[in-house]
Amino acid sequence: MVGKVILKVLRPYLSLNLSRKVAVCFILGIIFGCLARFFPPVHNIVNPEGFRTLGVIFINLIKMIIAPLIFALITNSFLSVKEPGKAGVLAVKSVCLFFLMTFISVAIGIGATKFFKPGASKNIDIQKIISQNSNAVNGVINSDQKKKGIVDFLINIIPSNIFQAFYNSDFLQIIFFAIVFAMGIRKAGQANGVIGDLFKSMDKVMYKVTDICMEFSPFGIFGIVVWLIATQDASLIKSLGAIVLIVYGSMTFMIYIIYGIVLLLLGLNPFKFFKKLFPSQISGYLLSSSSAVLPLSMQISKDKLGISEEKVSFAIPLGAKINMNGTSLNLGVSVIFISQLFGVDFTMSEIVKIVILCTLGSIGTAPVPGASIFLLSGILNSLGLPVEAIGIIIAVDRILDMMRTYGNISGDVFSALLLDKIDGTLDVEKYNS
Ligand code: ASP
Repeated sequence: MVGKVILKVLRPYLSLNLSRKVAVCFILGIIFGCLARFFPPVHNIVNPEGFRTLGVIFINLIKMIIAPLIFALITNSFLSVKEPGKAGVLAVKSVCLFFLMTFISVAIGIGATKFFKPGASKNIDIQKIISQNSNAVNGVINSDQKKKGIVDFLINIIPSNIFQAFYNSDFLQIIFFAIVFAMGIRKAGQANGVIGDLFKSMDKVMYKVTDICMEFSPFGIFGIVVWLIATQDASLIKSLGAIVLIVYGSMTFMIYIIYGIVLLLLGLNPFKFFKKLFPSQISGYLLSSSSAVLPLSMQISKDKLGISEEKVSFAIPLGAKINMNGTSLNLGVSVIFISQLFGVDFTMSEIVKIVILCTLGSIGTAPVPGASIFLLSGILNSLGLPVEAIGIIIAVDRILDMMRTYGNISGDVFSALLLDKIDGTLDVEKYNS
């Protein structure tokens, strides 16, 4: 009897497609979050951390599949290319495009911060905010995550232990191993043999496993929205609103104006791109993790945007690790903002150094929540700015992280689309459908 009633109530929800389910849960999350924040009876009985657990469960489900998914897709895509030389060309083209886009993002962020001067505001009590966040600041300063240089980064691409690479879901190490592994299969003449067939099937299986895990995404989004609304400190947004506005404004400019113009120039309707990618962008925004929505981005790219298998399975996971348009923009804005707060004026050559540091730094950032704050402390240090100033950014980092993740995800799919369109392999009919 109870089962029948529950089923009756749930039937309309179950008949929806995944995007609509996410939309319903998102709206429910806003309603519950507002009740938990503003309605004292609910506020007293609801524990927002409990809701956050739903988001953590979803992120764990994705973490569970991400390493085998990337391994299966990259190996299969390298086995399916007709001429192996082409794979190398794709890798070089992808990396050059990622660099260019990251560079443009930092430049836009720095340009906007220099122009609007948010750090010149007299309403920001620097010392108070820094001391309120001193624990988090110490955690970042004492962490060794920021101490990795570019040489370490490059050496680290080669996994000393492949199981550890899987254990850590280290994208670059898994990609590296998958490429070497695919080369081995080819050299052994097995590309069309048993192992080749196995990887073709693995590829399909992993997409299905992704579908299963994604069914939980509406609940994860629901939980995170309730937690965010119930717990975020709105007063900080008031005093640090200027930096939030600059990051949101310049990221929106980069995505909707720059990408939009490039798409128009390529003869593609930008609205199709924005509309189809939105479920992935908004999920990444709420979860603050581009890796958590990587499977969804790949699925949308392949099934809705018509991007070829080759670009989807290689350029997007690689981009998720090294193409951090949102992170680099956020780093650039943060550095200039802090310099303005402390009255430091950089020369042109120092600005060029900042652009390079932010570009290279963002490449080393993990696609997980709050990752780039560690880098910011390293960059401030190398520019002679007080490292404790990250306390100001930490105060609003969650809200900035959401937008930079939105930018990171958009940049990855946009790059894959661009490469595919230039190569003439994009399924334009599917894109326009
Ligand atoms: N949260 C970001 C991402 O997942 C990384 C960062 O902290 O910049 O893309």
